[in-house]
Amino acid sequence: MEILPGVHRVANAVSTAYVLVDPRDGLTIIDAGPGHFERTVLRYLTQIGRRPDEVRRIILTHRHFDHIGGARGLRDATHARVLAHPLDAPQIDGSVPNAYPKGAMGAAMRVAVPLLFPFRPCPVDEMLVDGQSISLGELGELRVMLTPGHTLGHCALHLPARRLLIMGDALNNATGTPVVSFDAVNDDTAMANRTSIALEGMDVDALVFGHGKPVLQGAPAALKHAADKARADLARGA
Ligand SMILES: [Zn+2]
Ligand SMILES: [Zn+2]
Repeated sequence: MEILPGVHRVANAVSTAYVLVDPRDGLTIIDAGPGHFERTVLRYLTQIGRRPDEVRRIILTHRHFDHIGGARGLRDATHARVLAHPLDAPQIDGSVPNAYPKGAMGAAMRVAVPLLFPFRPCPVDEMLVDGQSISLGELGELRVMLTPGHTLGHCALHLPARRLLIMGDALNNATGTPVVSFDAVNDDTAMANRTSIALEGMDVDALVFGHGKPVLQGAPAALKHAADKARADLARGA
């Protein structure tokens, strides 16, 4: 559904993608969900009267299976360029096996994920650079922000024209309160906490997430709450 003008949210039970629709530039897809999610995104494009060949780029916030599984299918269907950060790209293009969470959860996922969400490696056509601006036409600039910790190459995307921060999994809103994800799924939780603190005070109104409902108003309070928790967790040595 369209949550802000030109900003569409496409979700299933596992993960969420966003589609930016610009009248001049075309379409930008952010994240690709788990394996087979390309079908959900392509069906959504049909529903809103858009064509796959209008997609200009597919930006992957990070390398986790629930964000990249549909990337290859979307790239094949749209012929769009795939963009990701160089620290996460090797797991996306398959040159390095993707890592699973630590502990028992990771062991279970190592078995279950390939069965439920078959992954096809996807070429990364362009490397994201921290601070880079991608020009979207009437939606203005989309700013790439390296937000490491959840993964080392995790990037959030700032759309000033909509006062929106597309968070990926830099914060997770699955519980209804945006916070840094739990330790087992992070590359470096202390780093993710420092990233959360750095995001406090961003001049935005709205936040959207890979997991959980959007925060369409009151982003500063949500970012402050997350940063306060991150500071407390760092002080505890978490
Ligand atoms: Zn993730
Ligand atoms: Zn995720």
